[in-house]
Amino acid sequence: MLQFDILTIFPEMFSGYLNESIIGRAQKKKLVKINTHNFRDYATDKHRTVDDSPYGGGPGMVLKVEPIYRCLQKITRAKKKRCKIILLTPQGKTFNQPMARRYSKLDQIVLICGRYEGFDERVRKLVDEQVSVGDYVLTGGELPAMTIVDVVTRLVPGVVGREASLTEETFAKKGYIEYPQYTRPEMFKCKVRRQKTKTFKVPAVLLSGDHRKIKEWRAKQAKKR
Ligand code: SAM
Repeated sequence: MLQFDILTIFPEMFSGYLNESIIGRAQKKKLVKINTHNFRDYATDKHRTVDDSPYGGGPGMVLKVEPIYRCLQKITRAKKKRCKIILLTPQGKTFNQPMARRYSKLDQIVLICGRYEGFDERVRKLVDEQVSVGDYVLTGGELPAMTIVDVVTRLVPGVVGREASLTEETFAKKGYIEYPQYTRPEMFKCKVRRQKTKTFKVPAVLLSGDHRKIKEWRAKQAKKR
């Protein structure tokens, strides 16, 4: 079973999203285990301080290294065989599907969520990889952590019902973009941007029942990036 250990000062943020739908069921089926750890619990002063002002001055607060280090030590005491410690940072390598496939083969993934102005630089010495979810700055690492848990979990065998949906979906192969999908109704009428009413029909081939032709059409429609 793949185990996620998420270090965060906002553990309550995770339950709503990760306990529902496919990821929720994956946990119930014991295909993955998702633990959150509040590294504030590893601060030793009476105010349970996890941040401080930056040396040299400047705006905002910086996460201290010791509470994160102590929390990591506790988690990795019972470290699983194939384990990666990942720091979530906009400065890291941009997360993508091939990375997710690699992570889905691990036994344990530790994700460290930053906040405020980020981390004391020495936190980077404690990790195996630094990962970003895109070239923009979020207020914290919680959404990036949930993104990674979601993307990786659905690649764990048994999590997604029909394995075919994993082999035929966007990014399943290098540069592959999935073919267009339709469902009922066959005809849909609407006004687009306040212009005249238009009718959008489902391509006739998909209604033909001819599976060979449908397969050919889909192969043609699937795009290469
Ligand atoms: N001062 C930092 C900088 O300029 O790189 C940004 C800090 S950001 C406001 C706070 C935290 O959110 C980061 O430490 C990181 O954990 C998380 N974060 C923000 N954007 C992210 C991204 N694109 N990918 C991964 N984590 C991100």
